[in-house]
Amino acid sequence: MTTHPTLPPYAGSTRPAESLRGLCGGAVHVAGDPAYDVARVPWNAAVDQRPAAVAYPASAREVAEVVTCARRAGLRVAPQGTGHNPRPLGSLGDVVLLRTAAMQGVTVDPASRTARVEAGVLWQDAVEAAAEYDLAALHGSSPDVGVVGYSLGGGIGWYARHFGLQANHVTAVELVTADGDQVRADADHETDLFWALRGGGGNFGIVTALEFDLHDVGRPYAGMMVWDAAHAPEVLDRWTRWAGHTPDEATTALRIVSVPELPEVPESLRGRTIVVVDGAVVGDHDDAVAVLAPLSELGPEINTFAPADPASLTRLHMDPEGPTPFVSGSTMLAELPAEGIDALLSVAGARSGSSLRLAAELRQLGGALDRPHPDGGAMPRLHGQFTFFCGAPATDIDAGTRGAADVARTVGALAPWARGNYLNLAEKRVDPSTAYEPDAWARLCAIRASVDPDGLFLANHEVPTVAV
Ligand SMILES: Cc1cc2nc3c(=O)[nH]c(=O)nc-3n(C[C@H](O)[C@H](O)[C@H](O)COP(=O)(O)OP(=O)(O)OC[C@H]3O[C@@H](n4cnc5c(N)ncnc54)[C@H](O)[C@@H]3O)c2cc1C
Repeated sequence: MTTHPTLPPYAGSTRPAESLRGLCGGAVHVAGDPAYDVARVPWNAAVDQRPAAVAYPASAREVAEVVTCARRAGLRVAPQGTGHNPRPLGSLGDVVLLRTAAMQGVTVDPASRTARVEAGVLWQDAVEAAAEYDLAALHGSSPDVGVVGYSLGGGIGWYARHFGLQANHVTAVELVTADGDQVRADADHETDLFWALRGGGGNFGIVTALEFDLHDVGRPYAGMMVWDAAHAPEVLDRWTRWAGHTPDEATTALRIVSVPELPEVPESLRGRTIVVVDGAVVGDHDDAVAVLAPLSELGPEINTFAPADPASLTRLHMDPEGPTPFVSGSTMLAELPAEGIDALLSVAGARSGSSLRLAAELRQLGGALDRPHPDGGAMPRLHGQFTFFCGAPATDIDAGTRGAADVARTVGALAPWARGNYLNLAEKRVDPSTAYEPDAWARLCAIRASVDPDGLFLANHEVPTVAV
């Protein structure tokens, strides 16, 4: 790969973004345009992103044109799929927000058990296309997270302890580089880029398409168990111990949820604080029942675990769909001993007064996630026992302020057991080096310095443009 020559800055206007007008068949919205305020809204609608322009290219060629023109205008380019994780981007005043929603192609090759998706594809569409051939993808808990953003950042879903991270199952990446070139990175081409893109996020180019492995998981045994929050101490104690010893076939999460009083929520749950364990076990169904027995023995008031259609698993967790304003915090946890459970319940339990209405959530790691993938890229494993994520609604400024305080208090209470970050779930600025092994971080920085020395691209979690 060659690095680009330094281009002279665009000198045609005091508003450099004007030079992008007419690109993408007119789907470029400059600050002040009528459509700008709709075009700039991310999925996390609490984040008020105000870029110099928003571009909606419909092809790799249009992506290359936006990149080249933005560079000439002296603007940076931030790739964005859905905007599930826009907060760490910060100020976008000199940035073109390149949104990929118009690039929606999905193809499945059942013979090679792979899928190819264009940059704007959401998980639900990829999962449904794979299901037509009785194949499953390593999607996450949300149907409308973007495949590309999720995959570049790692990707943990309901099969994660069995297969590992989705990033480790990416087989090829098509992207537009800082030179404006369209390249393909795979095991035989652009091998440094291919390594960096699998876990290194959106720092190395604008991904226009991704290819990845699909899997035959049969009908996973999936569902949820629900208890009243009064049982939270014993459920947390049992689940955290159980989570460390279950076979790789099982992947689950535990959440403490304050259920809103909404008509669409079952009446018996409205307004209550509950504990939910959900997830999936792949393989033999009798074995799955036995694996889950230590949890079902605790007598959940609801237990929906049963053989499931793989395409239904994107909605198992009931993640919110469509624009959702919220604030969140996260950390990886090396462990969660009894004192950690007490600390969590003191800030997020039923009587804590917390506003964490969306959830305080632990995800079970280990299994294949903890075994370094021999050729998996920049993030070959996720090392730790759990990820922790908590979120609160930010429907207005007061709710956002109160939620942010609860989030900080909750993540802070778990600090003694925290170890590093999982960047997909880090929705504010963190030190990104904490997500990688030191040698992987050094290699990521060296590759960024080589392919984007001027820092044209702005990722939500930035790898610096200087080697360390
Ligand atoms: C409700 C919810 C549920 C979630 N569930 C899970 C889960 O189960 N497992 C999990 O691992 N994560 C999960 N996440 C985290 C999610 O994977 C990350 O937020 C991910 O970055 C989202 O990707 P996106 O493209 O949808 O978001 P965006 O905000 O659009 O993108 C995030 C970043 O990805 C990069 N990026 C996106 N598109 C491109 C592109 N075409 N080229 C280059 N870079 C690009 C950019 O750096 C961008 O800043 C969840 C998040 C939410 C809010």
